[in-house]
Amino acid sequence: MSDTFKAILVSRDAEKKQSVEIVDLTEADLMEGDVTVAVEATTVNYKDGLAITGKAPVVRRWPLVPGIDFAGTVIESSHADWRKGDKVILNGWGVGETHYGAYAARARVRGDWLVPLPDGMSPHDAMAVGTAGYTAMLAVMALERHGIVPDRGPVVVTGAAGGVGSVAISILSTLGYHVIASTGRNAESPYLIDLGAAEVISRDELSQPAKPLAKERWAGGVDSVGTHTLANVLSMTSYGGAIAACGLAGGMDLPTSVAPFILRGVSLLGIDSVMAPKAVRLEAWRRIGADLDLKKLSILSRSIGFDGIIGAARDIVEGKIRGRVVVDL
Ligand code: NDP
Repeated sequence: MSDTFKAILVSRDAEKKQSVEIVDLTEADLMEGDVTVAVEATTVNYKDGLAITGKAPVVRRWPLVPGIDFAGTVIESSHADWRKGDKVILNGWGVGETHYGAYAARARVRGDWLVPLPDGMSPHDAMAVGTAGYTAMLAVMALERHGIVPDRGPVVVTGAAGGVGSVAISILSTLGYHVIASTGRNAESPYLIDLGAAEVISRDELSQPAKPLAKERWAGGVDSVGTHTLANVLSMTSYGGAIAACGLAGGMDLPTSVAPFILRGVSLLGIDSVMAPKAVRLEAWRRIGADLDLKKLSILSRSIGFDGIIGAARDIVEGKIRGRVVVDL
C-alpha cells in the first residue's frame, strides 16, 4: 500500500453546504499532471481564506484540496524541464481552485506551471513572498512600465498591513520610492515604517464615496482593497499617474467616474497573477530575488504548522492577519 499523507479537503453536500476536514490521501488520489512535488512550504493567501470558508466561489471542483501556492522539491517528472531534486515554486493556474492544491504533503501539477526557486531563496522564503508578494511585484513592474519611477512623486499602498501591501511597501521602499501606507490598523504604524513606509495614513481617509477629482497626493499606487478606496486613490492621483489594481479586500465594485482618466490622464493598470504567462512570472521572481530585501521577510512573515491552516484561513478573510503566514510542512 502506498504511503498516506495529510491533506485538507473541502467538500459540499447535496444542499451545497460546504465543509472542511483533514484527511489522509495517497499519491494515487492526486489529480493528473506530469510533475509530482514534495511540498515543503505553502502559505495562507486571502483567496485560500475564501476557499476554505466558502465566502466566495473560489472552489469550482468538489471535493478539492485548496492552497494556491507552494514551494518544494520535484520527486517525479515526465516533463522535459524538470528532474527529480529540482526546487520549484507554483503560483496560481487554478491550483487550489479547480486542481488539487498546496495543502497536502504532495502535489501533482503540470510542469508548465512551475518556475524554478530563485538562487539564494529557500522554500520558506519563497512562501513568505507567496502569491501575495509575487502579485505585489507584478504591480510594481506595471507601474515601472508606465514610467512611474521614484522621481515622479509618492506612491500609495492600500491594505498596507496585509500580504500584498506589506510586500509592496518592502519592494517600493527598497527601490527608492516615497511610500504612503494606508491601513485600518493604526497600531501597525511602527511595523509599516519598519518595512519602509515613509508615511502612514488611516484607511478612513479613503473609504468614503469619492469625489470625481480631489487634491493630487501621489503619482502611483498599489491597491488591494477596491471599491471606494480605489475610487478615492484614483481621484487623488496626480496628472499622468497610474494605479495598479490587484485586489478586492474591501469589495468588488468600483464606484468611480471617468474624471481621473479624461481630465488627468490617470491610468488604471489591471494585475492578474493567476494566468500570468510564464515569461512574466520568471521576470517577477527574478526581480523579487534582486529587489526584495530578504531581511524584511522575517519582519513581515510568521510560520505556522499544517494544523494552523484552517484557523489562519478564517482569520485572513476577517482582515486579522498581518503580513504573510508561511506554512512549513
Ligand atoms: P490580506 O488579507 O493579507 O490583506 C488585505 C488587507 O486589506 C488587510 O490586511 C487590510 O489591511 C485591508 N482590508 C481588509 N478588509 C478591508 C475592508 N473591508 N476595507 C478596507 N481595507 C480592508 O490579503 P492579501 O494581501 O493576500 O490580498 C489582498 C487582495 O488582493 C485580496 O482581495 C486578494 O484576493 C487580492 N489578490 C489578488 C491577486 C491577483 O492576482 N490579482 C493575487 C493575490 C491577492 P489594513 O488592515 O492595513 O487596512
